Amino acid sequence: MRDAEPRELRIGPRDELGLFGGYHSPQLEVDVRLNTNEAPEPPPAAWLEDVARGLSHIAFNRYPDRDATALRAAIGAVHGLGPERVFAANGSNEVLQALLLAYGGPDRRVAVFEPTYALHSHIARVTGTTVRAGERDADFLVSPGVLATVLEDGPAITFLCSPNNPTGRLETREVLEAALAGAPGLVVVDEAYGQFAPWSAAELLDGHRHLVVVRTFSKTWSLAGLRLGYALADPAVVAACQEVALPYHLDALKQMAGIAALSYGEEMAARVGRLTTERTRVVAGLRSLGLFVVPSDANFVLFHSGSDDARGVWERLVARSVLVRDVSSWPRLGGYLRVTIGTARENDAFLDALRKVL
Ligand SMILES: *Cc1c(COP(=O)(O)O)cnc(C)c1O
Repeated sequence: MRDAEPRELRIGPRDELGLFGGYHSPQLEVDVRLNTNEAPEPPPAAWLEDVARGLSHIAFNRYPDRDATALRAAIGAVHGLGPERVFAANGSNEVLQALLLAYGGPDRRVAVFEPTYALHSHIARVTGTTVRAGERDADFLVSPGVLATVLEDGPAITFLCSPNNPTGRLETREVLEAALAGAPGLVVVDEAYGQFAPWSAAELLDGHRHLVVVRTFSKTWSLAGLRLGYALADPAVVAACQEVALPYHLDALKQMAGIAALSYGEEMAARVGRLTTERTRVVAGLRSLGLFVVPSDANFVLFHSGSDDARGVWERLVARSVLVRDVSSWPRLGGYLRVTIGTARENDAFLDALRKVL
């Protein structure tokens, strides 16, 4: 066979994809990595032993359980819900993608409240969905007035993020109830940091069939590397997500490892306790440097660097082998940096480096 003539690709990726620039936090080789809100501790050693044992029982020549029923039942049991109320996927980002594939798309709009988690609007655009952004108030909370204005637009999905990334603020129950009362479509509450909060939108699932609560194993469960997240929702919403997910999207190993993780709830609660204690210490440390700190209900803290040149502060921290998240180019966040709560040693290293940098 003769080689085909090389020729130009006539139809490339959709034009608008080039505009997004993707979403990534630079990963640099540093000693203290406090930029992506991961758990600083590895998962319990006993969990790893469970997984090692479970491996030998997996029939790797067979496709996994397509509906992941055992995993969904185990997740549901944690929340007092049946498997028909749980959609599981490869990280909560894939959950968000499934929701947008099923409920978003051309001619549809979704609402977000900036500044917030960039992936909500990013995945919306990738799925061809129009994004309407309302602005948070001076305290970085969603105000009832802004909410009402945004809802007039008829969003197919209204995204709330509570506690909100990157601000750490927990949304008020009043705002969630107003969203549930006024939204014509789904109200999706991203609770990636839900275990740190005093209340959960999951409490309102009964009686609100258009409420979806999204959670992840990436943060408190110390399993960012496993890629597992889920939505708690009405069975019809779960069915729609299953419809757009690829067949067998959850591999057998992940289903087994996820079920195994759920028996370590107490260890996870203890981690949340340790991180909350450390967060109090980090906040006090930042304030003692004279910096403005946004109150946080999560495992990270947004603080003002005290300088117009937050990027410069970030760079000088990197030079001292401490990596935080530079959010200063985001709307409304000029001068701000975000730091993940790490181990006591890491937090000390961060505060010490920041003191020297300032
Ligand atoms: C970290 C984070 C996630 C997690 O995404 P995974 O895909 O589950 O790792 C989701 N939402 C928010 C707001 C986050 O900060």
